Amino acid sequence: MIVENSRLLTLLSEEQKADIGSLEKQFAHHLEYTIGKSKYTIKNEDIYKALGHTIRDFLIDRMNVTNERYRAEDPKQIYYFSLEFLMGRTLLNALINLGLYEVVKQMIDGFGFQIEEVLEFEMDAGLGNGGLGRLAACFLDSMATLNIPGFGYGIRYDYGIFNQIIANGSQVELPDHWDADGVPYEVIRGDISHSVGFYGYTETKISGKGKLEHYWIPGETVLASAHDCPIPGFNTSTVNYLRLWAAKSSEEFNLDYFNHGDYMKAVQDKSISENISKVLYPNDTTEQGKILRLKQQYFMVCASLQDILLHHRQTHASLEYLGEKVAIQLNDTHPSIGIAELMRVLLDVEDWEWDKAWALTTKIFSYTNHTVLPEALESWKVSLFEKLLPRHLEIIYEINHRFLNFARSTKKLSEAEISEVSIIQEGDEKRIRMANLAVIGSHKVNGVAALHSDLIIKTIFKSFHKIYPEKFNNKTNGITPRRWLIQSNPGLTSLIAKRIGSGFATDLYKLRDLEKFIDDADFRNDWARVKQQNKEILAKLIKSETGITIDPHSLIDVQIKRFHEYKRQLLNVLRVIALFRRIKENPDRHVTPRTVIFGGKAAPGYYMAKLIIKLISNVANIVNRDPDVRDRLKVVFLPNYRVSLAERIIPGTNLSEQISTAGTEASGTSNMKFMLNGALTIGTLDGANVEMLEEVGEENIYIFGLKTPEVFELKNRGYNPNEYLEKNEELKRVMYMIRENYFSPNEHGIFTPIYDSLVFNDNYLLFADFDAYDQMQNIVANDYLNQDLWNRKAIYNVARSGKFSTDRTIREYAEDIWKVPILPTLAPKTQYSFDEK
Ligand SMILES: *Cc1c(COP(=O)(O)O)cnc(C)c1O
Repeated sequence: MIVENSRLLTLLSEEQKADIGSLEKQFAHHLEYTIGKSKYTIKNEDIYKALGHTIRDFLIDRMNVTNERYRAEDPKQIYYFSLEFLMGRTLLNALINLGLYEVVKQMIDGFGFQIEEVLEFEMDAGLGNGGLGRLAACFLDSMATLNIPGFGYGIRYDYGIFNQIIANGSQVELPDHWDADGVPYEVIRGDISHSVGFYGYTETKISGKGKLEHYWIPGETVLASAHDCPIPGFNTSTVNYLRLWAAKSSEEFNLDYFNHGDYMKAVQDKSISENISKVLYPNDTTEQGKILRLKQQYFMVCASLQDILLHHRQTHASLEYLGEKVAIQLNDTHPSIGIAELMRVLLDVEDWEWDKAWALTTKIFSYTNHTVLPEALESWKVSLFEKLLPRHLEIIYEINHRFLNFARSTKKLSEAEISEVSIIQEGDEKRIRMANLAVIGSHKVNGVAALHSDLIIKTIFKSFHKIYPEKFNNKTNGITPRRWLIQSNPGLTSLIAKRIGSGFATDLYKLRDLEKFIDDADFRNDWARVKQQNKEILAKLIKSETGITIDPHSLIDVQIKRFHEYKRQLLNVLRVIALFRRIKENPDRHVTPRTVIFGGKAAPGYYMAKLIIKLISNVANIVNRDPDVRDRLKVVFLPNYRVSLAERIIPGTNLSEQISTAGTEASGTSNMKFMLNGALTIGTLDGANVEMLEEVGEENIYIFGLKTPEVFELKNRGYNPNEYLEKNEELKRVMYMIRENYFSPNEHGIFTPIYDSLVFNDNYLLFADFDAYDQMQNIVANDYLNQDLWNRKAIYNVARSGKFSTDRTIREYAEDIWKVPILPTLAPKTQYSFDEK
């Protein structure tokens, strides 16, 4: 053994000493035998790996106990199907949820290392694009914390979302080999795998009973092999898991070549079939229609359903009561092929009658819609679909045929509306609309914020809503306060806990108790001190990541999210340029010092989004070097936005930019993260901003711009951006600077496409909202000068952020959609300590 003892054994209770004693022994064991280190060669990275293995042991113990309990009690199981899980880092979160943070910190200390440094070695698991994948991760945390038997199913991509670097101001994508050094907390289930078929053909035959039976004979088979990430709840002994499938070539697939002696071909094909789980599609809200993507979707769904049915049969004689024991939530349409797959299994394998199979399928599935943008709605060419999944196509045709009969029988739809609700989109190239399949095959369909849920029944699902009004419902998104407050903002966490206790960790509405301290000057001072500390930390991060020096007392103004035209990072830049111009015109005027920070990735094929990143970089270069500006304005682009970076930016933010065109952002969740960390919001009445306004009142949030009905009206009337440009001299000058290469002195013309897209189209109404945005920013700048006023508003925002916990969201899914009770908390011995770190 490397370690004889350490000082921490004298600091803890008898009961804890026993725990720690074994923790320390295990840790030393892993350091020596798993990592293979001797006393003299230990580095930070070794400590990280040994710690990972130690925590893994702990997690596995509790996961086994949890599984035993589920087996004995046989509760309904919830399966969250998602092609994306944006988990970020796991270790610190696990330490906090397990209540081991303090003891592990002391243990690492005892070894002469710093826990913060050690944890920096963990790579983010970036197996998602943005909000949709992060929502799935927050849901897992809340399900475990609420003791719901809730499990994630997804794909274990070898490469997650690309790493972004900025070269000469432009985004460059690098592969994200996140598991290169191993994933210490992961549990590889070598014994759990399922085979997944593709291609081939279908056959029918008449059975002995005279019934017509269908078969699918796949032409290719791939194995899905299970990799589990344990998911510990906070202050409970429940540990659920996220099961991710990795593609492995199957024996039967290669045997033929081996038999014919073509060894090289066999090995080649092996790696081709393993391509299925090679890489996450880096598209956010645009749909590409590539065959590999459909393969990924079916691969995930087919393996997961086999797994679920196998598990059910271990303790139940038949599938008769599957609907009472299983619920599956579809995170967007990406896994919606599961509806056809479950039908196939019930019809072709289990020999069920159609009506019975359909009743069970629709009882099990429910679907969450994440967007109203038409370019994001998935559809597959029938020709492509037919080759890959011929039997599923037959089943989809039959589902559609029966559904259209029903739809016509209601007499509520015109023939035009009937063709709208059909799963098949007719035309030169027939297509399968996955959203239609998802709506028809689910018993519940939800949007992700009140506005969004209202909008989908008036737009994309209007005709469905006429025939299925009771299917549609709202489930406003949330965030887990464990990661997005307790883990990421220890200073604010202990300040809050000192005043109102620690109950907010699992009942975020308790933050309301902070309201009574708003008039307490000592509390406001402490609040200001904590925020300032977080701003200094952020300033250091910006310095080390970009070399830019910012004023940590300036108004820290942040827009971090995927780059997309609808999110309107460009509106923010236009206003930055306007502010810059004002300073240049009148160099001595007073302006509130401001640091405008951007972060986010653009889809590699999204030309305009990438050009906007380039514009921001160039504006930053010019503004930050201009001697007239001095310290009054700084512009920063922080590269490689990801979960672990968000955790460091958000606590140090004063102003959160949530400025999408009204009616385009389904919910947003970064808006909630900022609110919970005491930033004020400047935003449109879009997504969950509407509900944030409801919670805090208009004096505590900076709402501006066109509302959703006004956006529709303006577009219907025929929007002409030039009308707005002509009325605003300043905006004209800003646009002139962009056109005349003020920000591209050595790259003439590069920003012409941005100029043209605004002047000739302006699809997202930037010009229409510019004036209102600018005026609201002036109010923000003025309010910030009154720090006391600002801090009161910030405290009030945190006090009113309780609604935006995913604990609330998950309770609503459990009650309205999944129909599962929430069991009382099973408190473990060790709990998280809220004392100052
Ligand atoms: C929360 C989060 C998002 C979602 O941000 P929105 O502003 O709601 O689009 C995207 N990416 C990461 C890394 C996040 O943590």
